[in-house]
Amino acid sequence: EKSQSPNKNTLKQQVSVDKNKNGNLGLFNKLQKERKNLPIFKHRQGLLDKIRSNQISVIAGETGCGKTTQIPQYLIEDGLNKNRMIAVTQPRRVAAITIAQRVAQEMNTTVGNKVGYSVRFEEAVDKNNTKLLYMTDGMLLRETIVDPSLSRFSIIVIDEAHERTVNSDLLISLLKQLSERRKDLKIIIMSATIETEKFANFFESENIIYLEGRCHPIEVFYSKKPHADYLDAALNTILQIHFEEQDGDILCFLVGQEDIEDMQQMLEEKIELFPKEAKKLKICTLYAALPSHLQLLAFEKSLEGERKVILSTNIAETSVTIDGIKYVVDPGLVKTRKYNPNKLIEMLLVVPVSKSSAMQRAGRAGRQSAGKCFRLYTKYTHDTLAEFMLPEILRSNLSTVILQMKAIGIKDVKGFQFIDRPHEDQFIESIENLQLMNALDANENITLHGKEMAELPLEPIYAHFMLVAFATNPNSISVVLSAISLMQVENLFFIPKGAKISLLDVLLRFQLGNSDQLTKVNMLHQYYLAKNKKSFCKENFINQKNMKKALEVRQQLENYFLDILKKRSKKNQKQNTKASQNQANALQQSEEQQIQEELAKGNTLKKLQEEHKTAIQQEINTEEFVSCIAKGLSVKAAKLNNDGTYTIIRSNIQAYIHPESLLFYSKPKPEYIIFNEVVSTIKTYLRDITEIQFSDFKDISK
Ligand code: ADP
Ligand code: MG
Repeated sequence: EKSQSPNKNTLKQQVSVDKNKNGNLGLFNKLQKERKNLPIFKHRQGLLDKIRSNQISVIAGETGCGKTTQIPQYLIEDGLNKNRMIAVTQPRRVAAITIAQRVAQEMNTTVGNKVGYSVRFEEAVDKNNTKLLYMTDGMLLRETIVDPSLSRFSIIVIDEAHERTVNSDLLISLLKQLSERRKDLKIIIMSATIETEKFANFFESENIIYLEGRCHPIEVFYSKKPHADYLDAALNTILQIHFEEQDGDILCFLVGQEDIEDMQQMLEEKIELFPKEAKKLKICTLYAALPSHLQLLAFEKSLEGERKVILSTNIAETSVTIDGIKYVVDPGLVKTRKYNPNKLIEMLLVVPVSKSSAMQRAGRAGRQSAGKCFRLYTKYTHDTLAEFMLPEILRSNLSTVILQMKAIGIKDVKGFQFIDRPHEDQFIESIENLQLMNALDANENITLHGKEMAELPLEPIYAHFMLVAFATNPNSISVVLSAISLMQVENLFFIPKGAKISLLDVLLRFQLGNSDQLTKVNMLHQYYLAKNKKSFCKENFINQKNMKKALEVRQQLENYFLDILKKRSKKNQKQNTKASQNQANALQQSEEQQIQEELAKGNTLKKLQEEHKTAIQQEINTEEFVSCIAKGLSVKAAKLNNDGTYTIIRSNIQAYIHPESLLFYSKPKPEYIIFNEVVSTIKTYLRDITEIQFSDFKDISK
């Protein structure tokens, strides 16, 4: 391969080409200086040489040294992309968008021209012009369905590979296969200085490039004692920094949207009480579900005489760079997906971070000058933390992973080369489960039903339930959507200590049929219809925050569900026109955007809701729901034994009805039930129960 003349000339050329467009030359020149000051700049030539002479490169470097923004530009400046498109994947939407914006500035252009981004439901790409595309790993994975050779790209960069998301793990495996077929394709794996060798070994490559970072010294402080309430501790720390430390913005890591909103509120209350002469404190928030335009506020420079505090999930841990951070507040917790085999469910749990995460977080304080990191846990706790997080693929319900793999066209999942292979016995169990739900057929091929299930952001069992319920009785969908949403949220009640009321008393107020699920749906619907929600919750010992949450989840699921219905009708039209498979797939992507756009306009949503009866209604038909849950959640059925215990039909496990279930007191005991959760303490209990009729029941015993 020929090498082109390097950097300086190409940079100059670019200025002259682009300066008359929409760029800002002053800013551009300033950014060019900054680029040359990045630690990565002196490695530029060495990097390019290695990448040029190898098909696969693994690049490790400290966060902030310039991997994500600089390397792709170097590749273009030196023509290594051969005038074709470079893909750079990110685990998160917000990272893909903000990085594209930053790089566009550095290249004196605007997003959607030479530099673009592509995230689900949103993209800024110019087919003929875009040479550098920042995209979520999910989007590239989807592209492999339509075009397994990824033919529009000449270089693919998997960034943040150390995060080990299921998507990026799968992509890396697929790229390894693809590298055999496409010798012209260059593959670059980039990661923080973690797991580098694992990736190189996986590719049987020795081409590892280490970049040293540039980090100013960071002073780390630990708590002397553990804190009972981490939000409280974080609040105090933020205020303390604001009043006692020098200028510089604060980045505080919190575990999720809820906590971020709580903290925002608490801080706002405190700010009200600030003395007049106090420095201003501006609050910004950053979490995945926040709309992009609001996320971007966190990236705006703080004004003179003002300090910014950013309340963020671990989005800010490695993927995005926020200028001006000098103080990091780290409670040492992260919310993560975890499969709990005892409960047969996958949950989002709050767990301690790993040592390597803690280090990344602290590193956020030392980008521009010396910084400070306040860890809200003891030094002792820190020493007990795990070195790394377990890869997501090993923490997930394997059924979810397999369904995802099948949906993107990976046929042989057992023979698939995983970077970290899930346990062997789980494969058989998970495939059987998916077959039971008719997501896979007898030959383990994905069915149409399975494809639709994979579209829903739910565990397969709930996705199955939703679709089966709709097929059984379309009128039931509103109640089923509510029931499934409630199953995704914990702690629906709040009964203060000393209150003379039990959970069961509260449930009885809303009882509907012989069913915990219906009772809770009834409660949710009454909450939705209540004029004064606050007092409704107070009177009924309901946790208002989590009711809100359930309604939010419901809204999301409703949108996804309506998407599926729209796709079904489009597919019917398409079958009539007999379009070729490839065209159909390509269509599907743009359709998805259309649908989303239509949904974004409230009118269409209303029309769809009315058409398909998905909106919350006052009437709840108990019988319809009972027959739907019997069919949809038959995997979670149990049968009464003579001694009053139940046997879970699928697994043959013996269990009791949980005392907090409405059905605990039923007489006579129902013969068949559907449960949602298995809780094992001293005894094994079934929770969230609905009585079903034998006639509705489909036998799924082994
Ligand atoms: P890496 O991928 O190695 O973590 P990046 O390429 O994301 O590093 O960032 C390199 C440097 O570029 C940062 O340290 C920062 O100085 C600068 N930078 C990147 N993005 C931005 C941004 N949005 N605003 C200001 N500076 C940025
Ligand atoms: Mg990066």
